[in-house]
Amino acid sequence: MSGPYNLKYIHLFVTEVSPGGYILSRNGRMADRVGRADHNLADDLHREAAQGKYRYFWFEYTPSAAAAYGLECAWYHRYHPTDNPEHPSGPLGTESACPVKGCQVVTVLQPRG
Ligand SMILES: [Zn+2]
Repeated sequence: MSGPYNLKYIHLFVTEVSPGGYILSRNGRMADRVGRADHNLADDLHREAAQGKYRYFWFEYTPSAAAAYGLECAWYHRYHPTDNPEHPSGPLGTESACPVKGCQVVTVLQPRG
């Protein structure tokens, strides 16, 4: 993971089109929110930046959306970000078990009833 970087200058740091995980912060020290991009990290970071809630970010490229989900989960459990109300859910249409030991979360769309 690299950072913290200023969210105004995403293009200087995120130069590859790649899935990945990111952490957003208001003060550059605390992880306030974790997220992931299934396709293009820069796109998702620009979307977050446009909302103006955060000033800093860290990021890491991953080879696939599934790997990005794993990273997002690991960070979610490590940092307990206050702005993530719920455990991350996996990429749409795939069955994704949280890779963190002791966590029982499996996100998969299941028929109700
Ligand atoms: Zn988990």
